[in-house]
Amino acid sequence: MTTPLLLGAIADDFTGATDLASMLVRAGMRTVQTIGIPSRPLDDASDAVVVALKSRTIPAADAVAQSLAALGWLRAQGARQIYFKYCSTFDSTDAGNIGPVADALLDALGATFTIACPAFPTNRRTVYLGHLFVGDALLSDSPMRDHPLTPMRDANLVRVLARQTPRRVGLVAHDTVARGAGALRAEFARLAGDGVAHAVVDAIDDDDLMAIGAACRDLALVTAGSGVALGLPQNFRAAGQLPLRRDAAQLPSVPGAAAVLAGSCSAATRRQVDAMRRTHTAVPLDPLAAGSPEALADAAFGQVAADLAASRPFLVYSTAEPEAVARVQDALGREQAAARVEAAFGALARRLVDRGVRKLVVAGGETAGAVVQALGVESLAIGPAIDPGVPWTTARGRTTLALALKSGNFGSDDFFAKSLAMLR
Ligand code: ADP
Repeated sequence: MTTPLLLGAIADDFTGATDLASMLVRAGMRTVQTIGIPSRPLDDASDAVVVALKSRTIPAADAVAQSLAALGWLRAQGARQIYFKYCSTFDSTDAGNIGPVADALLDALGATFTIACPAFPTNRRTVYLGHLFVGDALLSDSPMRDHPLTPMRDANLVRVLARQTPRRVGLVAHDTVARGAGALRAEFARLAGDGVAHAVVDAIDDDDLMAIGAACRDLALVTAGSGVALGLPQNFRAAGQLPLRRDAAQLPSVPGAAAVLAGSCSAATRRQVDAMRRTHTAVPLDPLAAGSPEALADAAFGQVAADLAASRPFLVYSTAEPEAVARVQDALGREQAAARVEAAFGALARRLVDRGVRKLVVAGGETAGAVVQALGVESLAIGPAIDPGVPWTTARGRTTLALALKSGNFGSDDFFAKSLAMLR
């Protein structure tokens, strides 16, 4: 029996998409993440699909167009409910993109009301009386205050969202949330009747997320961080649409050699590279070495060939301390340096897969994007989490690959060893 697609999600960035997909898997939904809008219909039986866009900081009109295209594709796959996923720090500006995208999705769905709730209490993102807290601090006092692209200087989400949409923005305060799904549904109906299009909803713990999830049962569109997704699978289960799945995170076993590619220079990745260097062959990829990116990849390949032949996992890294990165950027230009390193990792990944590597751990958001693109990966089935927010995934193409794509600052110091051990 093929399963109907229950939840279709549109995420405004890649690692955010993975975070949401991981949450859905944990809550018992078989989930696939696509990289951009796929060119073909879905061929896996999944309960949920998360389309990963890169629409967080592009012009609002482009974000709207891409989100509507993703919506069209998800509806063509039969999605029953749509989820617009943004960051748990509500990353946006007065120009968008949360308000304009949510408005456009509402219109396209013929709906007039949705919620807005970035809360993710496990990661200490909570909303109280419409104010977003990051740990103990208001959003506007957190480091997000000085984010280079989306500086968040107002913690009052009702005000923030009202600047992004001509429609009315309301608030569902915590006392209502605490009274449970029935009270929430009644409040949603009351607000919608008053002409409110977007209701910011308080949430300070997982019980709140479960109640909000249950209350969203009949909404065509939910807009939220990944937290609210915790409470949605129960609706499909109660309606008899989602069997109890204990194997939602189970992935096929993938035979073949394993490699780690690190193109992130973030602090967590630097520690992870140091840890793996002690026990495995570790080859630095020097952006200042002569030759094309392909030549850099060839040189690295030559140094790992023996390990590959012996099926010993190895590491290739461009990871460097800030001073070294600055030297490279001074010599090549920041963007040229990034493009060169990304192209080298893309070429190396292709070469490794050609030679039998089937398990790849990639550190760095941009680096992972470059590798996935070089390998022509369109979608990933989401498996068990290695560390919070970073699951093993499998990509199906000409060959089946196991991929762990880690954003730079994620993961414990022994992340690489832990990832590899999980696949044994
Ligand atoms: P993170 O997730 O830590 O931000 P990314 O892969 O997204 O990691 O970004 C790191 C960027 O830095 C990439 O564009 C990568 O190509 C570039 N880069 C990696 N190593 C170096 C280096 N040694 N010098 C200069 N740039 C580098």
